[in-house]
Amino acid sequence: MEEMGIATGLIFWATVAASFVLLFFLGNVLKLPLWVRVMTGLVLGGLVGYFFGERATIIKPIGDAFVQLIRMLVIPLIFTTLVSGVVAMGDPKRLGSLGIKAISLYLITTVFAVGLGLAFGSYFEPGVGIDYTTASADAANTISSRLDSAANSGSITDRLLAIIPTNPLQAMSATDVLATIFFAIILGVGILSAGEKGKLIGEVIESSAEAILKVTGFVMAVAPFGVFALMAWVLGDQGLGILVNLGKLTAALYLACLFQIVFVYGGIIRIILGLPFFKFIRGILDAMSTAYSTASSAATLPVTISNVSKNLGVEKSVAGSVLPLGATINMDGTSIYLGLIALFAAQALEMDLVMTDYLLIAMTATMASIGAAGIPSASLFLAVTVLSVFNVPEEAAILIIAVIFPFDRILDMMRTMTNVTGDAAVASAVGKWEGALDEDVFRGKK
Ligand code: ASP
Repeated sequence: MEEMGIATGLIFWATVAASFVLLFFLGNVLKLPLWVRVMTGLVLGGLVGYFFGERATIIKPIGDAFVQLIRMLVIPLIFTTLVSGVVAMGDPKRLGSLGIKAISLYLITTVFAVGLGLAFGSYFEPGVGIDYTTASADAANTISSRLDSAANSGSITDRLLAIIPTNPLQAMSATDVLATIFFAIILGVGILSAGEKGKLIGEVIESSAEAILKVTGFVMAVAPFGVFALMAWVLGDQGLGILVNLGKLTAALYLACLFQIVFVYGGIIRIILGLPFFKFIRGILDAMSTAYSTASSAATLPVTISNVSKNLGVEKSVAGSVLPLGATINMDGTSIYLGLIALFAAQALEMDLVMTDYLLIAMTATMASIGAAGIPSASLFLAVTVLSVFNVPEEAAILIIAVIFPFDRILDMMRTMTNVTGDAAVASAVGKWEGALDEDVFRGKK
């Protein structure tokens, strides 16, 4: 018995080592582009996790190291690209027009997403016949305690007020993205207004932005290995159990997200902007697979900014302002998910919904997706709020969410990937409308 264990242990490590050598070879000898290697890491890691199960979870620290490396860059990157972006625009008025375009398009894509979530939820009926009373007590406890801490985090007014940092350095050290965005924009406008005298600091920040983008490049060099480890961990930990347990919910979410990506973003890129959709997807594959494996759009942000500016040819000033905003307020995958969960709960509880319920769900799901942080499982805990609008008692809501909780990661990966793809689509649109998109780069001619 023990010998068997040792033998599989050896086979496991040999497989991991062989995969790493292969990934290294693809990059350093065959010089294949990064996205090919990241996708290879994703697939290989998934297979290793699937076949070795629990044992594969041991390599999670390699994935964690990768996530920490990119998270390390989030605040420095947002701050420097945003300040230098505002300075590069040269005119605060342009910032206004850019902001309005970005926010409007973010809202429009979200409305489509909520609609899709509700449509797929009605069609697939994922909650019919689910016995939510079997939810694990552990999961239910976790959810109630998270709810309590959310209830203490203050009203909407408080949260809006928190966007204005009383101490910008503290906001940055707490990775408070919205407050950092706020301060960076105001500082950029200040540098512009200071004219000649502000030039120096503008140049220093611009040069820091360049350096940090280079560091992002270094971190991405290890992405294939990090993504491999994360996928091995997820599949090793969860297997494909979700397919059986919450199969319909997973299918509905994955299909609705694919629909959103192909038709809504595809429509924006292909029909509205007249650009090749395939090139768009190919340009942001690193960001998509990083989002998929980390389940955090905030952590993926440095990769998204780098992909959108380097591969899609969107000026750094636009990518650096539109994307951080998107990573915090635009979450279409999350909206799809929240709409779906609402229907899942209504079906599990055998409640009949009327038109006003659907509208209320759509509105709360939109608000919740705007308010959700770009971190793993953020929206799972907001789902309870969405359920409260059609009078699901809190205890029942907690049980329903607790059923989903153990499997949420696989759902989270897909919605995060959709969130990030949506940000990139909107950044491309705003870039094009602002005359800040180099089509030759987008089309891969440069
Ligand atoms: N994990 C998602 C994200 O980072 C948020 C969510 O839980 O839906 O985009």
